[in-house]
Amino acid sequence: MTKLEIITMPDPILRKTSESVTHVSSDLLVLLDDMLETMYRASGIGLAGIQVAVPKRVLVVDVSDHEKECPSPICMINPEILYFSERKGVYEEGCLSLPETRVEIERPSEITVSYIDRDESVRELTTSGLLSTVIQHEINHLDGKLIIDYLSSLKRDIVIRRLKKMARAREDF
Ligand SMILES: [Zn+2]
Repeated sequence: MTKLEIITMPDPILRKTSESVTHVSSDLLVLLDDMLETMYRASGIGLAGIQVAVPKRVLVVDVSDHEKECPSPICMINPEILYFSERKGVYEEGCLSLPETRVEIERPSEITVSYIDRDESVRELTTSGLLSTVIQHEINHLDGKLIIDYLSSLKRDIVIRRLKKMARAREDF
């Protein structure tokens, strides 16, 4: 498995809308493995294809507590949310593409999501809590949406300016 480079803001690729997958190829399965490896090494709990510069509708998540539990990775191809609950919950979300940024976001607590799995079977998952939040966050990535879009434009500008400064500092280094 290969660790891939994670794209960070302000790279404009993060604003691209990802394309549906038409066929689960062996290359796609390798990509999913590499995405999991990349996510685990970055201590993340979710990663979308576009974050490793692949604009396909794929995501990986694992919200298990690695200290106490076995890993429980989920790979989703062409995920689509079929149901959102009325009830909402708030989490302070981070993102591997937005270093040192946390945003409190209110989202529907429970969702039902349909997706294609690694064996090319269509599956449905109803879930709540952290897993529901992470899946909604990753699906946002597939539509070019980022956590800073939930901020007021004033706050968003401040964060973007800081991220641009950090990116410039990395380049100068
Ligand atoms: Zn993210």
